[in-house]
Amino acid sequence: MADLLDKRKFYIDGEWTEPSRPNDLEVIDPSTEEAFAVISLGGQQDTDRAVAAAKAAFPAWSRTAPAERLAYIEKLLAIYNRRSDEMAAAMTAEMGAPSDMSLAYQVEAGEFHITNFITAFRNFEFLRPLGAHAPTTMVAWEPIGVVGLITPWNWPMNQVTLKVVPALLAGNTTVLKPSEIAPLSSLLFAEMLHEAGLPKGVFNLVNGDGNGVGTQLSTHPDVDMISFTGSTRAGIAITKAAADTLKKVTLELGGKGANLIFADADRKSVEWGVWRCFFNSGQSCNAPTRMLVERPAYEQAVETAARAARATGVASAHLPGDHIGPVVSKVQWEKIQDLIQKGIDEGARLVAGGPGLPEGVNRGYYVRPTVFADVNNEMTIARQEIFGPVLSIIPFDSEDEAIEIANDTVYGLTNFVQTEDGARRNRIARRLRAGMIEMNRESRGAGSAFGGIKASGRAREGGVMGLEEFMDSKHISAWALGN
Ligand code: NAD
Repeated sequence: MADLLDKRKFYIDGEWTEPSRPNDLEVIDPSTEEAFAVISLGGQQDTDRAVAAAKAAFPAWSRTAPAERLAYIEKLLAIYNRRSDEMAAAMTAEMGAPSDMSLAYQVEAGEFHITNFITAFRNFEFLRPLGAHAPTTMVAWEPIGVVGLITPWNWPMNQVTLKVVPALLAGNTTVLKPSEIAPLSSLLFAEMLHEAGLPKGVFNLVNGDGNGVGTQLSTHPDVDMISFTGSTRAGIAITKAAADTLKKVTLELGGKGANLIFADADRKSVEWGVWRCFFNSGQSCNAPTRMLVERPAYEQAVETAARAARATGVASAHLPGDHIGPVVSKVQWEKIQDLIQKGIDEGARLVAGGPGLPEGVNRGYYVRPTVFADVNNEMTIARQEIFGPVLSIIPFDSEDEAIEIANDTVYGLTNFVQTEDGARRNRIARRLRAGMIEMNRESRGAGSAFGGIKASGRAREGGVMGLEEFMDSKHISAWALGN
């Protein structure tokens, strides 16, 4: 215990405070399987203290001028950028993002979101006329109150910035419960908010698990909204837990993205699809995990994908380079192994990777980059979110069949389309049932909302919609114009 980083305190009411009673949890480095830090899992008393602090801070914070709130977030951005190396190191150690990737993508995602929120907020109209047909009716956008924010471990700062920043800009006060598996980046983020000089009680952080602090926030009578990102299982539990207090609940959940590759697609499409599936060791809700390939291009695509998988390096997250790191935990590693075995048992054709540790590795939660061909959409590996570097390739014969396979899933987060035929792209984009469609390897523009439909949840995070998500709208008649 002696040399573990001591991160047991919570951030409540502007101060680092001891938990109400000791309940230690070790934080494990997935590259080494060794504990390197210790946090506390909070209890009801800690949750109550944090919620009470947020509630007390709400009246004053919600009445601050938008420019004042913006100034705090601009300060936060400067601090976040200054301490980016520390943030990258925290995520490398807690969830295994390789150091270069951690800085270039995990940390950068946070900077990207904060910057986009600043832009969206500058132009945000808190009071808008309803329309020319009703000149004295106004729509006012107002903060919701005390907001509980519950985040996962796979893209820690991406998720935290997508919630904390718009919640604060909107005028809410907040209690963050980050993933207990990857809590260090959030503790560092709390330090940054403290350094930015945020008034006490406006932002609070309590560590804990889902059954503890997670449920306590979801059921708390003084919490007005829960914004959650994580598994569909937990999203359902939170929705039920929140029902009695009628709080607003927004959910960003899992995915099983299809990547439709037509025979006329750019040559790079298959390799890109493999890279994008394996990125972050396959631990992205929006990963294109089902590669659907038009029959004439199918065998070639299988070969290319297998080669790309074999060329994907797997190594410690602490090493520089463009390899992938371990998956986050023993639990996840075992779940992925089971699913790979299921793929084999159910008759998919294994063309790269497979069960077990990569060659020469005997420590760390590393998974072999794995590709299955001849998958059909009924197989477990095509239906369940695997959350590891495992790609399923499925052939198709027609546009209609491709759309049918893509939509035949409980999820609806991101789908991908690769074809040089623009009319076909547009047509398919409109028919795919998902919150996001990415075509021809082009990222969606800054300020696009992130979110899904169906079992992927229906939140909209980022940009203007991501601000509105944390506000209530109020419709007012007989507005005295010019006053
Ligand atoms: P998880 O659902 O186990 O945990 C997420 C968070 O919820 C953690 O903070 C956890 O402590 C908390 N939690 C768990 N059970 C809870 C409960 N009953 N009540 C309240 N809180 C609870 O998920 P995870 O394993 O951390 O993350 C992986 C999942 O997140 C994947 O399914 C992935 O697809 C999903 N995800 C979705 C998005 C998105 O935007 N759609 C983004 C990232 C991850």
